[in-house]
Amino acid sequence: HIPLMTMGRLTPVEKLARFHEAHPDLFKRHPGELAAYPDQEKYLFYQTKKEQPIIAGAEGIYMWDTRGKQYLDGCSGAVVNNIGHGNRRVIAAVERQSRQTFFAYRTQFENRPSQELARQLVEHSAPHLNRVFFVSGGSEAVESAMKVCRQYFFNLGEGSRYKFVSRVPAYHGSTLGALSLTSYAPLEVAFKPLVRDNPKIPAPTCYRCVYHKQYPDCELECAWALEKTVLEQGPDNIAAFVVEPVGGASTGALVPPDEYFGIIQHICRKYGIFLVLDEVMTGFGRTGKLFAYEHWGVQADVVALSKGIASGYYPLGAILTTDEIVDVVVRRGGFAHGHTYAGNPMACAVGQEVLRVIMEDKLPENADRMGKILLKGLNRLGRKHRFIGEVRGLGLLTALELVRDPQTREPFPPEWNAAMLLTDNAFADGLLIYPRRSINGLYGDHVLVAPPLIVREAQIAELLEKLDKALTRTADHLN
Ligand code: PLP
Repeated sequence: HIPLMTMGRLTPVEKLARFHEAHPDLFKRHPGELAAYPDQEKYLFYQTKKEQPIIAGAEGIYMWDTRGKQYLDGCSGAVVNNIGHGNRRVIAAVERQSRQTFFAYRTQFENRPSQELARQLVEHSAPHLNRVFFVSGGSEAVESAMKVCRQYFFNLGEGSRYKFVSRVPAYHGSTLGALSLTSYAPLEVAFKPLVRDNPKIPAPTCYRCVYHKQYPDCELECAWALEKTVLEQGPDNIAAFVVEPVGGASTGALVPPDEYFGIIQHICRKYGIFLVLDEVMTGFGRTGKLFAYEHWGVQADVVALSKGIASGYYPLGAILTTDEIVDVVVRRGGFAHGHTYAGNPMACAVGQEVLRVIMEDKLPENADRMGKILLKGLNRLGRKHRFIGEVRGLGLLTALELVRDPQTREPFPPEWNAAMLLTDNAFADGLLIYPRRSINGLYGDHVLVAPPLIVREAQIAELLEKLDKALTRTADHLN
């Protein structure tokens, strides 16, 4: 192992090359995922080593690269851009705010955009959610949710409640705390042991039930697994259960059975555990309601938000929580947590306008209507293309699960990277979709299809036509 401390004089690319040499197994195990840009000219590094075009412009649901190629944004980036690209109202809001200030530090000045956006969020969320804390992204929102729960219990003298139960698979972010709730080996392997190995229960992956049961005869054993885990760990050691209302990147638009959240809510209340909903991907109209918790009337203690909140026009995230939690937390000097950009005036001015657009243009309603049309079209493709194992989703958060054998539901070998193959084929024809590789070969590959919520019926037809073509080409590659 080469200690990082001695690598000071090397360029970033050289450091990476050394790191590759020092950890060959790490990169061998997950070749595409963890390899950095090999190109010596480039000093940026990301997870993939794929050559990518450069963005030149975007409008509505379309984007263009510098070579003039057009793309239909069938996944809103990383399921971010709920209101579509190039929205004039948001551009005008940025101009207005830029004439006042981009930045004022929160311990020196209050600012109107953050006060006003907090008011709007409280107005549009469930009645018990009436306190807001701003951050800059999804992982920060999840970290903040975890820390507000921890500090609440600490202030009450219940510091033993430090563990968080989450699900497998799940995605809650890539900072170390949020990663400890996430279950996705390629992102975790280099960072074990995680901050804390938080206990996990299975997600309701009915297509691949870990108990080999069938809904509804299963009586939702996966939901009751929460109670079992709480009892095993000791209820006094658990702060909260953290869950995506509809599974996103990790599970592929995983919609829980109707009874699921009723059981979860019951268990959380029974043992005095907080329920934290990660609505980073599902919030702001994505699933056909402003917030996904509205589908089941579930009452969360903390809700983590990002992505759609500013729809990619500015980095922004937030947590929504209750008076009770905030009152206990502020009793001892306030929330011991915060970031430089919390409540950033420009970010909040963007968030205000985005939320107005979402409400005034009735985008949740459009997501509901268009989502049903999209799901129908995807099911049609599911019947046509044999390697689509399952089609699922809610609103405009939908997914195709890809399988080698639809009868046995056998996933493709992870090294085939079938989801990426389909994504690359779609990309070639100017369609953006969002891939996730089979997790340790246990769950199938899937792609998310989640266009901006402004999408119209004719554009759904165009999306489906391009996807059909990509599926046909991918079937040739996989055979
Ligand atoms: N939580 C969920 C449900 C997400 O989908 C994501 C990102 O995809 C995150 C948290 C992390 O958000 P960010 O990438 O902004 O840190």
